[in-house]
Amino acid sequence: MHLARFPRRHYTPYVTPIEPLDHLSASLGGPKLWIKRDDLLGLAAGGNKTRKLEFLVADALAQGADTLITTGAVQSNHCRLTLAAAVKEGLRCRLVLEERVPDSYDPRASGNNLLFQLLGVEAVTVVPGGTDLVGAMESVVGELAAAGRRGYIIPGGGSNPLGALGYVSCAEEILAQTFELGLKIDHIVTASGSGGTHAGLVAGLHGTNAGIPVTGISVRAAREPQEERLHGLAQKAAELAGVRTAIPRDAMVVRDAYVGPGYSLPTDAMVAAVQRLAQSEGILLDPVYTGKAAAGLIDLVKSGYFGANENVLFIHTGGSPALYAYQDVLNS
Ligand SMILES: *Cc1c(COP(=O)(O)O)cnc(C)c1O
Repeated sequence: MHLARFPRRHYTPYVTPIEPLDHLSASLGGPKLWIKRDDLLGLAAGGNKTRKLEFLVADALAQGADTLITTGAVQSNHCRLTLAAAVKEGLRCRLVLEERVPDSYDPRASGNNLLFQLLGVEAVTVVPGGTDLVGAMESVVGELAAAGRRGYIIPGGGSNPLGALGYVSCAEEILAQTFELGLKIDHIVTASGSGGTHAGLVAGLHGTNAGIPVTGISVRAAREPQEERLHGLAQKAAELAGVRTAIPRDAMVVRDAYVGPGYSLPTDAMVAAVQRLAQSEGILLDPVYTGKAAAGLIDLVKSGYFGANENVLFIHTGGSPALYAYQDVLNS
């Protein structure tokens, strides 16, 4: 793999910390848990999309774009970070927000929605769940073109092969960093949504022959289709990075038992996990992704999924601004 061949913007001037979760590990009595603090990545309030945007925005600039267009749910962290990247680069940004939960868009909502306004979004189009989002973004590009402007579409979650390179590069970062720390990681756990994070990690760990398994905790899709789709994405990201061997299908492992009633809808286990990480480690998770992923991590530990002496690394993919849109649920 030779990622320096790709144009890249730099939004985080440091390697994100890997920290031990000593209190949580002790209270569970199981494996030693560690956390990769990608919530501390650069751009407004950090999170995993920053790594993908380093490659995607570099491509947009190379193509002469003046406006970024992307899509996400009504409290999308990805939309917030794409907008922040646009501001930093002197570009404009338009968002297509999908009401995955009917009537979930509230123009006065807090959390990321507040930040869309604060960061100066140029226009927001709200569409019902199930809308053809690529079509909706293409019509925004058409409107801009009619005004002599040039739009660049970033897919939902930034999860195409180019965006997934952000997590191929994160896999290399984790290997170099844990080598320096003298830490042998046995297993990685991450939230699995649009999948660039999960697929990129699998591609990067495969491409380096690291032999570290990854378990993705689904926040939306059922296991089988998610594994199939992400296996394809990981394969394409690996090819783009220059990996010449195929990724085995069984390297793509998704658990879907922690989604609850649906994407972004609270579960008791999510609330408990958010409270537990806050009160035992002083770490803020989020209600949509890392709260459910941590609920999965805790349940897997309790069920003996990991060896008692293993080192398990949880990727903190960010999202804490969304906490402020779930005040009622979290106060209970
Ligand atoms: C988008 C997001 C994820 C999921 O990452 P994908 O690459 O889309 O699977 C996880 N956590 C947070 C906080 C996110 O915003």
